[in-house]
Amino acid sequence: MNTEPQTVTCLYCGMPCPSMQTLEEHIKSCPSHPMLITVCDQCFRASCWQGVFYCDKSKTAGTVKKTRRELNEKRLEHPSWWKTDHEIAMSAVRVM
Ligand SMILES: [Zn+2]
Ligand SMILES: [Zn+2]
Repeated sequence: MNTEPQTVTCLYCGMPCPSMQTLEEHIKSCPSHPMLITVCDQCFRASCWQGVFYCDKSKTAGTVKKTRRELNEKRLEHPSWWKTDHEIAMSAVRVM
């Protein structure tokens, strides 16, 4: 029998991934993912990354991109903080 692993394709950028697990890893940083939210990689809050409520580790923290679903599972802050890069860019245009 053919035991070749099934390839799954990223539905955002079309990149083929050898397994569901690789796909899940890829989607976390997929450049074409329209719904990724940038958050602080220490506290996983968007409000921290946006500079509204800094966490204790924010000085050395970086950023990480999360899906709304992942953030929803953590329930760390109100969903109104969660903005995609596109939404942030749009609001920055308005401010300037
Ligand atoms: Zn992708
Ligand atoms: Zn933080």
